[in-house]
Amino acid sequence: MEKKYLYNKQSHTLHIKGFCHYSKGVNDYIPFLSEDEAIASDGRASLCKFCQKARDKKLEEL
Ligand SMILES: [Zn+2]
Repeated sequence: MEKKYLYNKQSHTLHIKGFCHYSKGVNDYIPFLSEDEAIASDGRASLCKFCQKARDKKLEEL
């Protein structure tokens, strides 16, 4: 299973791979399998608002 959640521990922001420009070409992120896993690891983690929007949009299209 691909780890598609990328966590930036500096800004406490969780990104979804390919969902926003922040998640491209940066090697400093910690990969996670799910949002829950990232939050379990660091309670301050919150999903990036761009990624959240992109995810909501994808869910609507289903
Ligand atoms: Zn993002």
